[in-house]
Amino acid sequence: MTCAARPKRLVEDRPLALPLADPQAYADMMKRISAYFRPESIGEAFALLDGPGAVLIGGGTKLNGRLSSEPMSVVDLQLAGLGGIERFDTGTLRIGATTTLQQLVDCEDVPAIVREAARRELPSTLRAQSTLGGTIVSADRESELLVALLVHDAEVFVARPEGTEKMGLEVLLAHLPLASHEIVTAVAIDTGGSASVARTARTSADKPIVVAAARVGADGRRRLALAGVASTPVLAEETDELDPPGDFRGSGEYRRALAGVLVSRAIEGVS
Ligand SMILES: Cc1cc2nc3c(=O)[nH]c(=O)nc-3n(C[C@H](O)[C@H](O)[C@H](O)COP(=O)(O)OP(=O)(O)OC[C@H]3O[C@@H](n4cnc5c(N)ncnc54)[C@H](O)[C@@H]3O)c2cc1C
Repeated sequence: MTCAARPKRLVEDRPLALPLADPQAYADMMKRISAYFRPESIGEAFALLDGPGAVLIGGGTKLNGRLSSEPMSVVDLQLAGLGGIERFDTGTLRIGATTTLQQLVDCEDVPAIVREAARRELPSTLRAQSTLGGTIVSADRESELLVALLVHDAEVFVARPEGTEKMGLEVLLAHLPLASHEIVTAVAIDTGGSASVARTARTSADKPIVVAAARVGADGRRRLALAGVASTPVLAEETDELDPPGDFRGSGEYRRALAGVLVSRAIEGVS
C-alpha cells in the first residue's frame, strides 16, 4: 500500500458535516436519520441498501443538503475496506473510493495535477471528510478534480450485487445517477507522462468558471479535458463543438471563448 488508509475510527470521532450555524437545521436533519450503519464489507452494504430509506454515504457532506422529509437509514462506507492508495509497477495507481480528498493531497505518489485539484476542490474542513467516491458521484460540473482524473485515464470500479464493472470515468459521468445498488469501490489512474492545467475563476479561491487540463501520456497521445462547459466535466478534442450552459459566473459564449484559450495554455504547459 503506497498511502495507507487511516486507522479505523469510531463514528463518535467523526461527526457528519452539519450546518453548525443553524441549530434548527441540525436538529431537523438528525430527526430524519432513523438508523445508522457502518457495514464492514461491500456485501453487507448491499444488504443494508435493501432496507427502506437507505442512503449511501462516503464522507456524508452532502447529507445536510437533502431536503427530503422522509426518514433516512444511513449506510456509511467508512469501514467497508475501500480506503488506501496502491501503486503498481505499470505506473497505475489504484485509489480506494473512501480515500479522502486530503489523503489525495498528502500522497506523494498521486500525480501533481490531481493533488492540486483535490486541494482546490473544497476547503480543508471538508477535504478531511469528503471522499473520492462521493466527489465522483456528485459530479460537480466545475470540478477540477474530475478534469485531472479524466486526463489521467481514470477508470472507475463500480460494484453491483452481481459483480464489479470497470468503466472509463467519462462513461460513468454519462451513466449517472447511479442505481441504488451500485457502489464505486475504487478508481485507477495512469500516472505516466506530463500534464498541465489552466483555469479562470472570479477569485483565486473560487470554483473555476472554466478549467482545462492536458496530458501527454507515456504512449505519446494527448488527452484534453474541461469543466464548466457542460453538465459534467468532459473529455474533449474540439472546443468549437462545445455548447456550454451559462450562469451567474459566465455566459455560454464567454465559457466557450475561455475554453479555447485555456486549452491552448494547458497544451503549452505540457510541451
Ligand atoms: C459547505 C459545503 C460546501 C460544498 N461545496 C461543494 C462544491 O463547491 N462543489 C461540490 O461538488 N460539492 C460541494 N459540497 C458537497 C460535497 O462536499 C462534495 O460533493 C463532496 O465531495 C462529496 O463527498 P462525500 O464523500 O462527502 O460524499 P457523500 O455526501 O457521502 O455522498 C455524495 C453522493 O455520492 C454517493 N456516494 C458516496 N460515496 C459513494 C460510493 N463509494 N459509491 C456510490 N455512491 C457514493 C452518495 O450516496 C451521495 O449521493 C459542499 C458541501 C458542503 C457541506
